[in-house]
Amino acid sequence: MRDPIRPASPGPGDADAIVVGSGPNGLAAAVTLAAAGLRVQVIEGAAVPGGGCRTEELTLPGFRHDVCSAAHPLALASPFFRRFGPAARGVAFAHPEVVYAHPLDGGRAAIVTRSVAETAARLGGDADAYRRLMQPLADGGNAVADAVLSSMRRPPRYSGALAAYARLGLRSAAAVARRFHTEEARGLFAGVAAHAMLPLTEPPTAGVALLLGSLAHTAGWPVVTGGSARLTDAMIRAIVAGGGQVETGQWVSSLAALPPAPATLLDVAPRAFFAMAGERLPARYRDALARFRYGPGICKVDFALADPVPWRNEAARQAGTLHLGGGFEEIAAAGAAVARGEHPDSPYVLVVQAGVADPSRAPRGRHALWAYCHVPSGSTVDMTARIEAQIERFAPGFTDLVLARRTRTAAQEEEMNPNYAGGDIACGMQTVRQVLARPAVRWNPYRTPLRGVYLCSSATPPGPGVHGRCGELAALTALRDVFGVREPPDLAIAARLPRGGLAGPVGGDVQPVPAGTAVAVAPGPVSGLVEIDLAAGR
Ligand SMILES: Cc1cc2nc3c(=O)[nH]c(=O)nc-3n(C[C@H](O)[C@H](O)[C@H](O)COP(=O)(O)OP(=O)(O)OC[C@H]3O[C@@H](n4cnc5c(N)ncnc54)[C@H](O)[C@@H]3O)c2cc1C
Repeated sequence: MRDPIRPASPGPGDADAIVVGSGPNGLAAAVTLAAAGLRVQVIEGAAVPGGGCRTEELTLPGFRHDVCSAAHPLALASPFFRRFGPAARGVAFAHPEVVYAHPLDGGRAAIVTRSVAETAARLGGDADAYRRLMQPLADGGNAVADAVLSSMRRPPRYSGALAAYARLGLRSAAAVARRFHTEEARGLFAGVAAHAMLPLTEPPTAGVALLLGSLAHTAGWPVVTGGSARLTDAMIRAIVAGGGQVETGQWVSSLAALPPAPATLLDVAPRAFFAMAGERLPARYRDALARFRYGPGICKVDFALADPVPWRNEAARQAGTLHLGGGFEEIAAAGAAVARGEHPDSPYVLVVQAGVADPSRAPRGRHALWAYCHVPSGSTVDMTARIEAQIERFAPGFTDLVLARRTRTAAQEEEMNPNYAGGDIACGMQTVRQVLARPAVRWNPYRTPLRGVYLCSSATPPGPGVHGRCGELAALTALRDVFGVREPPDLAIAARLPRGGLAGPVGGDVQPVPAGTAVAVAPGPVSGLVEIDLAAGR
């Protein structure tokens, strides 16, 4: 193994590992390989790196929109990012006062805060049912996230929280929501379950609701201060510090076009891998890739607003994320319509108002708003009017505040990033089968039948979201198979405070440290991040 920190970048043909695609999983793979001392070359097709983790001025100057991911419960809970230590690399997560809100007609809303008790107390007759459902999961800290954000190959370590999760997680949201009776609690559960992009009568929609719902009370659902791209930048800095490089603007259509390297990791959709490898793949594996099912698409609208959204419900104004679409039945009907290939008149709309926690996203007094709804796969229908009508329903006067808007249909979503087949931002349906065996049934899902070639996109376990685990777990497999490295590398090694500041353990004493200080990132009780006050170093 070479010296872990080398200034020289790999030239053509002398990389130890090639990573195709610079989404969070491609970069997590590259970070892991670079931390093990390998020379890594990342090849990205788009002009800008980051895949689903980018921030751009999509509407007007000074409005910084998260192009894809905006809310980061999975990043904060992810074992990969806990080891990587974003805080030690200058990335700050900003938590909104209200984690997520579910507005209902008449100015009512269900409101979720970090506290289970506080959230339950607002749910009236369903207070006890909410507490009984969420408290055991929240009490488990990282246990549920650690189990779900795994390769799904080994039974996780037993804990009470995990047992509670396993009991209900493989069921449908419709089944689990029967324990609630108020429109608020039922709507709240539907709103968070619908992230699964499946009809709410399908398993494991309850599992998605329980994971994301409990993360509200453990890690939180923060945004990244300055935009999601800061997380991408931190990973790229770590790769470059390890002697690797990230090249953009080079779409890869065939494995034969890649520079030779002992290991190749592909942050691409299964059908792209199919096209790249062609006849080199055995027929059985090719058939499995061809059978892999993609889910519905999304239509996204980014808004530049003159003022904050005037949600009729006061508490909803403080929410980072909002789920719109009314009560359980209405949201279920919207999901069922999308599954039938229809565009609902009253769609389920996900909204992120990053500005409530991070005012840097827009010029003073202005706001950048992020919204999308689910649509049938490959849809070219512009849902802007229906998304605006849904926001207007719960925030009268909203449309008058719009200074500019930018829409991406599902078809355009795929044009921007081929991993989002038909606009499916999950890179593959999250049915029970495809959660457990992604993209094909194999003992190690990252290994492909081609020697030295690995899949590392969110089409592998643990699936979609910005958590980097698909990339990390694929890289650990490649390290073992190709380079004989059995010990996971220390990802914290290259964590340095860029400007100095205050550093210390979570909940412990902090002390001033100068710029360039290397920081050890020890796993903490929940987020596992070292707390750093960079403001002190400016
Ligand atoms: C609109 C939207 C909103 C989202 N919101 C959230 C959210 O709030 N929170 C969250 O956790 N997740 C969210 N997600 C999901 C999250 O962004 C993805 O699950 C995550 O980015 C997947 O990471 P990845 O590395 O597997 O793939 P991607 O991030 O999709 O990256 C793949 C990269 O590979 C490149 N690539 C693909 N094929 C080739 C090729 N042949 N040659 C060269 N390069 C190639 C692509 O250009 C891309 O840069 C959202 C996604 C979208 C689109």
